[in-house]
Amino acid sequence: MKIVDLIEKNKPFISLEFFPPKDKESWPAFFEVVEKLKVLNPLFASVTYGAGGGTQSNSLEIVKQMKQDMGVEPLAHLTCVGATPENISYFINSLREAGVENILALRGDAPKDVEDFDFNTQVFKQGSDLVTYVNDQHPGMGIGVAGYPEAHLESPSIKEDFKWMKYKVDEGGQFILTQLFFDNRVYFDFCERLSEMGINVPVIPGVLPIMSLKSAKFILSLCGATIPGKYLSALEKAHADGGDEAVYRLGIDYATKQAQGLLDGGAPGVHLYTLNRAKACLEIGQALKF
Ligand code: FAD
Repeated sequence: MKIVDLIEKNKPFISLEFFPPKDKESWPAFFEVVEKLKVLNPLFASVTYGAGGGTQSNSLEIVKQMKQDMGVEPLAHLTCVGATPENISYFINSLREAGVENILALRGDAPKDVEDFDFNTQVFKQGSDLVTYVNDQHPGMGIGVAGYPEAHLESPSIKEDFKWMKYKVDEGGQFILTQLFFDNRVYFDFCERLSEMGINVPVIPGVLPIMSLKSAKFILSLCGATIPGKYLSALEKAHADGGDEAVYRLGIDYATKQAQGLLDGGAPGVHLYTLNRAKACLEIGQALKF
């Protein structure tokens, strides 16, 4: 079933993001984490594609196993930078054969080893090109798109970013999954501005439970989201006073309150970045009564 239809029937919901472990020896432990998190009854589990060095065939195999062996509804991320229409169609046909009906259509980032990479040299130049292609060539596929409540890093202005966000939805994006953020006001503001532009598809907020200072700083450096100064100071103080355990506790409490605030404010659900760990998301999900 398309995720956009599942959303309508199951509000409010929790959903989860995983990344494919590079090394196949760690797959059994990975699937154990997914199994543990099934108690939260996630609406879907998204699996990243090609990010952080993970391979595309691993993403494909993992979503297949989730769907066929674990009864979890996968959302397969798919990037189009460097891709050809044939590669994309091969991936989508493989998903369809496995019964997987939903993708998150993404452009992807410039390759790290190419200086001044120009997306205009690509067959697919933007995420919206992938949306258009999949809609035309693979009708019936569920398509989500990425949204940036604090604007995409490359965007020259917030206004310009909203313009392209609208275009991506008009081309067939059925729901928006957001970049992580820590201040709920940016999410509600984002939704309001989209609604004023006539964009009324579900906007699923992404929430990162901070589990350690080091990993949080690493993730933030990659995605461009900002952390409120007050929260960062509190995390640093927790680390100085009580070490990693105190940071973990603060991170879980903050994410729980943040997720509760999003649901209370009318978000259709919350999407938790699991970092492939069960404990933190279990605590948060159970506190939210999922
Ligand atoms: P686009 O929608 O193409 O937007 C990129 C930039 O181009 C924006 O600044 C936009 O304003 C601008 N733009 C868009 N269309 C046009 C146009 N026609 N003309 C001019 N400018 C335009 N990366 C991975 O590699 N793998 C993953 O699994 C992955 N998962 C993600 C999940 C989520 C929820 C999010 C938010 C991001 C994820 N990313 C992933 C990162 C993503 O690939 C990068 O942020 C990438 O730089 C942008 O992808 P996009 O699809 O949002 O791009």
